[in-house]
Amino acid sequence: MRPEILNPLFVDLTALPGVGPRLAALIGKVAGPRALDVLMTAPTGVVDRRLSASIGTAEPGTITTLRVRVDKRERPERSRRPHRIICSDETGFLTLVYFHAKEPWLAAQFPEGAERIVSGKLESVYGGLQMAHPDYVADPEELDELPDMEPVYPLTAGLAPKVMRKAAAGALERAPELPEWIDQELVSREDWSDWLSAIRTLHAPRGKEDLGAASPVRKRLAYDEIFTNLLALALIRQRRSERKGRALMGDGARWAEIEKRLPFALTGAQARSVAEIKADMAREAQMVRLLQGDVGSGKTMVALAAMVAAAEAGAQSALMAPTEILARQHEEGLRELIEAAGLQSVILTGRDKGREREAKLAGIRSGYVDIIFGTHALFSGDVEFEDLGLVVVDEQHRFGVRQRLALTEKGARTDLLVMTATPIPRTLALSAYGDMEVSRLDEKPPGRKPVTTIAKPTEALDDVMAAVGRAAERGEQVYWVCPRVEAEDAGDLIAAEERADTLRAYFGDSVPIGLVHGKMPGPEKDAVMAAFYERQLSVLVATTVIEVGVNAPDATVMVIENAERFGLAQLHQLRGRVGRGSKPATCLLLYKGPLGETAKSRIETLRRTEDGFEIAEEDLALRGAGDALGAAQSGLPRFRIADAGAHQSLFDVAADDARLLVDQDPELETERGQAARIALYLHERDAAIKLLRSG
Ligand code: ADP
Ligand code: MG
Repeated sequence: MRPEILNPLFVDLTALPGVGPRLAALIGKVAGPRALDVLMTAPTGVVDRRLSASIGTAEPGTITTLRVRVDKRERPERSRRPHRIICSDETGFLTLVYFHAKEPWLAAQFPEGAERIVSGKLESVYGGLQMAHPDYVADPEELDELPDMEPVYPLTAGLAPKVMRKAAAGALERAPELPEWIDQELVSREDWSDWLSAIRTLHAPRGKEDLGAASPVRKRLAYDEIFTNLLALALIRQRRSERKGRALMGDGARWAEIEKRLPFALTGAQARSVAEIKADMAREAQMVRLLQGDVGSGKTMVALAAMVAAAEAGAQSALMAPTEILARQHEEGLRELIEAAGLQSVILTGRDKGREREAKLAGIRSGYVDIIFGTHALFSGDVEFEDLGLVVVDEQHRFGVRQRLALTEKGARTDLLVMTATPIPRTLALSAYGDMEVSRLDEKPPGRKPVTTIAKPTEALDDVMAAVGRAAERGEQVYWVCPRVEAEDAGDLIAAEERADTLRAYFGDSVPIGLVHGKMPGPEKDAVMAAFYERQLSVLVATTVIEVGVNAPDATVMVIENAERFGLAQLHQLRGRVGRGSKPATCLLLYKGPLGETAKSRIETLRRTEDGFEIAEEDLALRGAGDALGAAQSGLPRFRIADAGAHQSLFDVAADDARLLVDQDPELETERGQAARIALYLHERDAAIKLLRSG
């Protein structure tokens, strides 16, 4: 149950003064649906409204507040022209400009001879100073009512700054005083103020300094956000470790059969990860482990080792892939090895119907089948396992913390291994996977050739097509990536369909070309992908659906159009699709010039390194946390106040602090524990509270 003290913040926006349904919809767009969301929306800047000394010393181009005398109102000589109001002080003249203003209103606002405070953007026009439509006009006696510093909020079409400011002020009115959840020592060391004072300062900044990432106010509130994120994960992890799972310990005999047949030795990183996973599976507690490794680092073999270990211990395993085609590829690639070890595997997808499906289901139910490949559909409906001991999830980002939590809530005891190729900066990894143990494949199998990365302007399309033609002639395959089809509003984007047409026209029948995009029905998409990896197609034109990808060892060229629209990490992921075989590979980035600084440094980074982790850190630095890796798609946590780049050190402190609190007060019952519960609700990490005994 949510602590009552927070109720005033968990209300619809319409509860705020001056906000009706229409404005609520607009504010909801930039902030979120409740008062709390407005409170957690930090201003992006601040306007200084303090009174300037005089017209003569004021600086054009800035928002300026001046005390002036109204000298004269000038009517427009023609309609559609503005009214002008000539003002002055001892040091100079200022012209106020009003379009479409009603004369009586102007006369009331600006009686000739009166003194006025005006505030707005000061501009220099033909050597004279002018201010069009001042933001504020006030009697000098009302000067106190003008704010000194005015916060600037994110806006959307139709939402006036004033409205948003008023909503924020209204939300602030509702903010209660809260007990402290941060460790006292840390609060004193950092000289942080309490939560309410901090949130007040955030919305009434005394200057730009209060809004910067380095300001104590910002840091305190960022810490709250990071801490609650990590605390929730620490709770989930703690709860899991208390629960009894089952010990799965193999004797290594089956795996020895497989290892004999492998044409290569495991890399050091693979061997280490396998050992970590086996040790974890052998423990009584449930395993929830992440296997993090760049594209091509050899995660599949590690997964196989884990599944075989489960089989040795007499349990079944299931490998869940994000698409049917990937599931099939895994199964086909591993079947021979699995059989050589005297084990049975099966692939079960939505395509299996009727008697065939029945037979497969029976094999799974009876325990005849040891290793099952499939998609998330494995866990729905009619599939019954005889004794499922291990689940492997390939490509993590569709299996986020919420799904893991659901698994824990259901009291599942099955060991879980989640594999991801998304390189994630360390700080974000902490907050995305803090509830899991992590194994890392930080070494690639030997013999990989570096991919040559080249950037070209879109105008060089003919050269690129010629290069594609040469590759196809050599019997090599080509990926051609276009931005998503959904991006229709961005009219200049070349849709994949259109590009496929150009290429077909250019090559005729000599080069078979396939097309996949996100709007295609699943089976159709799978069929094209299958044709590509069965080598019936030379070129696969695709939107980014191939990111989570198919292994085509003969693919040597990756063309990426509108590369400037992709993030660094995404470009790296795409590039990882080629160069998996023994032939040299090329990645061609087609840019719509002229290149900005960020785009330039992206290319430089890509050319310099193929290390996904290094690239991820760079991405974070270039883009800022919010955008890195397209946070929304990748299932990474989103922070509203914290900045994963600038607040890196806070992540480490918060991680330690959260673990310590959970160790000392696992049920969050002490005074600080109770306060921390409030913080979890405040930052909407309260799902973890359900796991507490008195949740
Ligand atoms: P990913 O981590 O992207 O899933 P894969 O498991 O698909 O990578 O492996 C990529 C390729 O590397 C596969 O063709 C696989 O057979 C090969 N491979 C895996 N481990 C090794 C190794 N230790 N030495 C050489 N090649 C390996
Ligand atoms: Mg893989």
